Amino acid sequence: MLKNENGSAVWFSSELSGDFHRTVTSPQVVKNSVENLAVSCEELPQQPPESCEKVKNLPRIVSGFATRHGGVSTLAHLSDLNFGFSVGEERATTLENYRRFSAALEIPYSAMLCANQTHTARVLTVDRTYCGMGLDRTFAEVLSGTADADAAESGFDGFVTRESGVALVVRAADCVPILFWDPTNHVIGACHAGWRGTVGGIAAETVRKMCALGAAPETIFAAIGPAVCLDCYEVDDAFYETFSAALGTAVCEKIFAKSPAYENRDKWHCDLRLCNALLLEAAGLLPGHIDNSALCTCCHPEMFHSHRYAVKYHGGKRGLGCGCVAMME
Ligand SMILES: [Zn+2]
Repeated sequence: MLKNENGSAVWFSSELSGDFHRTVTSPQVVKNSVENLAVSCEELPQQPPESCEKVKNLPRIVSGFATRHGGVSTLAHLSDLNFGFSVGEERATTLENYRRFSAALEIPYSAMLCANQTHTARVLTVDRTYCGMGLDRTFAEVLSGTADADAAESGFDGFVTRESGVALVVRAADCVPILFWDPTNHVIGACHAGWRGTVGGIAAETVRKMCALGAAPETIFAAIGPAVCLDCYEVDDAFYETFSAALGTAVCEKIFAKSPAYENRDKWHCDLRLCNALLLEAAGLLPGHIDNSALCTCCHPEMFHSHRYAVKYHGGKRGLGCGCVAMME
């Protein structure tokens, strides 16, 4: 088990099945788990039975990020666990990996749905009727006739729901996957924040869409998953200018660095995970509710799929990892 800066733990698969790992909900969330509330309910006999029943029926929130091990992929550049559909693998094989991941998270595969990721800052509101989207059902099939029908083509990079039985999956290989949950108001969300999504504000947009469903910033938790770190993420001056113009110098001073220790000492490096954490704080999340995994996909290519590492050493051939958050009855 690893401990990160703010004390939240990441469990590795030896404690689960296969080589998946999952983030453990922070202590504040554990306090709100069904079991604990049910116990405190029994300890309060003056509580009317209806509310005890209500407490026991609270949904269970599960979240986790996958490593690149524990699945059925066989191509060398994929290890044995890949979640991408355009990386040279048979679709049926990739789908089996989703099944294995759902089993590791102890949620039904049929509850899963994926984002049609195109580096936008667009976030959809979904419900149980969207389950299977991007897996056993096409985006067009699910989205046609809804207000978001155009997203089947143009894409979207985040989604939120207040329904249980829905498991939101976002994929990444260096980009930042972020999972959200509000255990008080029973709303969850997930987004994929590459640099375009990050500077476009998809993290805050996910919070905004969650709040439209009844969540509140101060009760939302966010898990920032494994992604490329500051040291591994060299960017050009145009990138810096884009961030500076959109986010201001105060944020940029914290997320950008140059160093003689880097291969190119004159090039900027950017910390996308920290950037998203700062944007979430600006959106009203409490710092203690933001779990930054501190795991770099590029520093740990044996453990995670990494675009930058693959470009440098494997001609760009690589798979995709994923994160999933679900609310279950
Ligand atoms: Zn790194």
